[in-house]
Amino acid sequence: MQKALEQSLAEAFDPTFRLTELVPAGGGCINTAYRLQGIAATEQVAFFVKTNLAEMLDMFVAESEGLEELRQAGAIRVPRPVCYGTGDGRSWLVTEFIRFEGRMPGSDCAFGEQLAELHSQSSDRFGWQRDNTIGSTPQQNEWDDNWVEFFRRHRLAYQLRLAAANGYTGSLQKKGERIMVDMASLFSGYQPAPSLLHGDLWSGNYAFDSAGRPVIFDPAVYYGDREADLAMTELFGGFNREFYAGYNKAWPLDAGYEIRKILYNLYHILNHANLFGGGYVSQAESMMDRLLSEI
Ligand code: ADP
Repeated sequence: MQKALEQSLAEAFDPTFRLTELVPAGGGCINTAYRLQGIAATEQVAFFVKTNLAEMLDMFVAESEGLEELRQAGAIRVPRPVCYGTGDGRSWLVTEFIRFEGRMPGSDCAFGEQLAELHSQSSDRFGWQRDNTIGSTPQQNEWDDNWVEFFRRHRLAYQLRLAAANGYTGSLQKKGERIMVDMASLFSGYQPAPSLLHGDLWSGNYAFDSAGRPVIFDPAVYYGDREADLAMTELFGGFNREFYAGYNKAWPLDAGYEIRKILYNLYHILNHANLFGGGYVSQAESMMDRLLSEI
C-alpha cells in the first residue's frame, strides 16, 4: 500500500513527494489511521491517512466530499482532503494533518458560535448531492422538500428495516411504525430550514488545534434540521456549557427542541442497535415510549 499511497500523493500534492514513515495514529472506530511522514522537494511534510478494505473506497469518497462541503462554508476549521485511492487490497483517504492540543479559554464558546454559523449555510432542499455513511451504515440523502418526510423515510424507516433484518421485530417495529405515522405533530408551529450539518457530531469527532481553534472531522454531511446536530452533541456527552451558551447566543433554539431531540437521537440509537445490538435495542424502545407519550 505504501508505494501506491506515495504515488497518489505525488499526483495530488507534489511530484517530488517521497513517503518516509507511516506512524499508527489510533483512536478511530472504523478505520485504521496513521500519520504519514514524507519529503517533498527538501521539506518534511505530514498528512493524516485513514485506511480500510478496498471495497470501502466509496465511503472515503463521500467523506472527502463532505469535508470539502464543510470547508467551503468557512465556519469551522476542517481538515483539507488531499486524495483518496486504492492499492494492494486497501482503500485510503489522505487529509491535512492537524496537531490537536487541549482547549483554551474561549475555545468552546467559539465552537458553539461557529457551529451556528455552519448551520446558517443553507440549501433549497433537505438531503445532499450523494449518499454517505453513518458509522459504517449506509445513509441515504436523496433530496426532498419536506423535512418530516425526509427524516421518516431516509432516517427512521431505513434503520427500522435494518433492525427487522437483524431480528429486532415485535414491539420495536410496532412503536417505530406509530412514531412514523404520527411524528408530524412534533413539528406543529416549527418549520426547520435545510442547514448544513456535520451529521455525526459526537465528542470523538471534534478537537482543538494548537491555537485553540475548534476542528471538526469524520462527518456524515447533509442538509437537515440544525436541531439534529445539537441533539447528537447531547447523546453521549462531551460538550460543555460554554459550547451551548455560544451556540444559543448566536442562534437560539426553539422550545420544541427538547422533545424533537429524542426523535433525532432515536436515529443514532437505532443505528447503534443495528451495529452493536445489546442494550441499544431497549434504549431505542424507551426513547420511542417517551415520544409516543408526547405525540
Ligand atoms: P474513524 O473514521 O475511524 O472514526 P476518525 O476520522 O474519527 O476515524 O479519526 C481517528 C482519530 O484520528 C480521531 O479521533 C483524531 O484523534 C485523529 N484525527 C482525525 N483527523 C485528523 C487529522 N486531520 N489530523 C490529525 N489527527 C486526526
